[in-house]
Amino acid sequence: MANTFDIAVFAGDGIGPEIMAPTVEILRKMADASDKYDLRFVDAPAGAAHYAKTGESFPATSMEIAKSADAILLSAMGLPDVRYPDGTEISPQIDLRKALTLFAGVRPVTVKAGQTTPLNMPEGKEIDFVLIRESTEGLFYTQGRGEVSENEARETLLITREISEKLFKFTFALAQNRKKAGRGTGRVTCVDKANVFRAFAFFRDMFDAEAANHADLKADHAYVDATALWMVQKPWDFDVLVTENMFGDILSDLGAGLMGGLGLAPSADIGLEHAVFQPCHGSAPDIAGQGVANPMAMILSAAMMLDWLGLEKGNAAMVEDARRLREAVEDVVAEGRVLTRDLGGSAGTDEAARAVLDMLFVS
Ligand code: ATP
Repeated sequence: MANTFDIAVFAGDGIGPEIMAPTVEILRKMADASDKYDLRFVDAPAGAAHYAKTGESFPATSMEIAKSADAILLSAMGLPDVRYPDGTEISPQIDLRKALTLFAGVRPVTVKAGQTTPLNMPEGKEIDFVLIRESTEGLFYTQGRGEVSENEARETLLITREISEKLFKFTFALAQNRKKAGRGTGRVTCVDKANVFRAFAFFRDMFDAEAANHADLKADHAYVDATALWMVQKPWDFDVLVTENMFGDILSDLGAGLMGGLGLAPSADIGLEHAVFQPCHGSAPDIAGQGVANPMAMILSAAMMLDWLGLEKGNAAMVEDARRLREAVEDVVAEGRVLTRDLGGSAGTDEAARAVLDMLFVS
């Protein structure tokens, strides 16, 4: 049918396949229950275990599957003991980011009532903001190519008009969609260090130029150091934040910390034509093979995928299913009956995923 979408599935390494399997099962059941869309899953082998077995970390056929898919679902990749001969880690997710120019790293940070967080949350407050991290340039531009001599080391921070303009357009569109969905206040904050670096004044000017096209949204600026402070002191005030690659790298881990850990932190890397959805955490080799990994970050990433696909393809049923899936996870976590070990419970991966299915289809 016309509304059948191909999903490239990178099951990955370590706990990757363990959290991918129940996630695909949930997506299949949701699609089966809908007559408005269907999903076709195509396996794309890649990663450290694949490299150890075949000598190839990212076969060309898998890249082709990714490029021709409507969306890419990716679990955790990489294993500390399996490396290229030069000692660097195997990370097909970074290869994808570069090959498909996925410039917008989208990291939602949510803390709902009942969810454990290291913060002292005032009564009635919830956290629900999105951090957008530019993911192709910034201080990562010279990654692996920095110059180091005996007495000096240099890396280059690159901010381009080409990427920044796309990034800000994407950011304001996302804020608009959140506002329409009743999730955000329509506030977009540019996080930079424009008081010290000219590159960030340039970044901010382009942000302001895009903001001028959106009279219905509020736009403001914050320095990155102050933002770190406010993410701890009053994170409920934020709606959409957009920032440079390295700042975003650091702030998104702070965001995961607010959510009580990596097991609940989903993410997406989005470009103009492609998008990858994956949990923020790694392959957790210390718990792999035990059936105890928390599948929620992977499932929430799948919900982000449904939302993105639904908006891209004009399919309201997928957007609605994305909301249902996200809320099912939030309800399971808030209820606190079925939690994995990392969240203080004793449930296994399958039991936790089953609780989400029950929330969707039984209750
Ligand atoms: P990477 O550098 O590949 O992102 P990392 O060094 O951040 O990896 P992770 O693999 O994310 O490390 O694991 C960090 C810790 O969090 C480990 O103790 C791991 O067991 C735990 N962890 C990560 N993901 C999960 C999960 N889904 N469920 C339970 N525990 C997890």
